Amino acid sequence: MEESPQILNSEELARYSRHILLEEIGVSGQELLKQSQALVIGAGGLGSPAAMYLAAAGVGRIGIADFDKVELHNLQRQLLHGTGDVDREKTHSAKERLQDINPHTEIEIHDAGITPENAMNLFSKYDVIVDGSDNFSTRYLNNDASFLAGKPLIYGSIFKFEGQVSVFNNAGGSPCYRCLFPDPPPPGTVPNCGEAGVLGALCGIVGSMQALEAIKLIADFGESLAGSLLVVDTLSMRTRKLSIKKDPQCPLCGESPTINDISEESYEFSCETEPKTATKTVDSFPLEIDVSEAKRTLDKGSVAALLDVREPYECAIGSIEGSTNIPMNAIPQNLESISKEGALLIYCHHGGRSMQVTHFLRQNGFENAVNIAGGIDAWSAEIDSSIQRY
Ligand SMILES: [Zn+2]
Repeated sequence: MEESPQILNSEELARYSRHILLEEIGVSGQELLKQSQALVIGAGGLGSPAAMYLAAAGVGRIGIADFDKVELHNLQRQLLHGTGDVDREKTHSAKERLQDINPHTEIEIHDAGITPENAMNLFSKYDVIVDGSDNFSTRYLNNDASFLAGKPLIYGSIFKFEGQVSVFNNAGGSPCYRCLFPDPPPPGTVPNCGEAGVLGALCGIVGSMQALEAIKLIADFGESLAGSLLVVDTLSMRTRKLSIKKDPQCPLCGESPTINDISEESYEFSCETEPKTATKTVDSFPLEIDVSEAKRTLDKGSVAALLDVREPYECAIGSIEGSTNIPMNAIPQNLESISKEGALLIYCHHGGRSMQVTHFLRQNGFENAVNIAGGIDAWSAEIDSSIQRY
């Protein structure tokens, strides 16, 4: 009788022994990892930890897609690259680093990054896509291409101190990125990706979680984040796992899809636009007030509107009584429904998105727009503890 060829040699068995000792992985899970192929998009803050853990875990082939060069300010969080790599192609330093971590992993570099022209072809060559991109255009493109190619997408994103992780387009009908965020944010409402602050260690947390979700899918153990959005707030060290649903109206994965082909879609939005700074503060309406001041204003009854700019899944957790919900990305289409009379108090989760909206509205003639600092989280902490924090 012929013996079946051994997938892992003795050096690999020793290298991965701490995985193999885990009952949920074992030799069979480790073999699945070796036979798998993962595409990491972006060799940056999220792509660095994600790719390093996937390589160390023994994923057989890893693709790295990035078109950028290493810059000095990347080094605070992009651990694939070292000080001597400044000005080199990110894919080149990434390949060297990953190859050093694990010579058994084959590293393929795609130094044009992800474009509408190459996405479908690239995605078809991998089993799982890890999205470490930092802008909305690429995120929508990755989402659409992974859905159309039938590949699970491990989503991660960070903003200041908060991170989000999920798995989209998984087999079995999990929701997609568009189900959660139907509209890309309009130009000027989000900070330029290159200019927003980023907490380095948060990238390590979120990127490592993405690697972990990919490893679970590949080696088939544990419970996937498909159908859930994990939100990590590193300021309070609170994490929340929110349940998310497929949207039957989703233009990509809904019942009557209108996005059937990447080449017919436009993927040019938002991040290309510089955020504008606020116009002058009108005396009667400060740009921002705290929750106590907001409560006093609301109690006086002189408020035109209390505007909640969070996503519907967040409003379902709880909202301030009397508020109208218009998600941030839908504000530009709904300007006519917003009153210019009286104070217009605007809130979101922590006060970040609502400040962007406040700036945007002021640029569009709403001098009554006032941000509520700290958002509903501060409101819950200081005014009404019956509202669930998340
Ligand atoms: Zn969808």
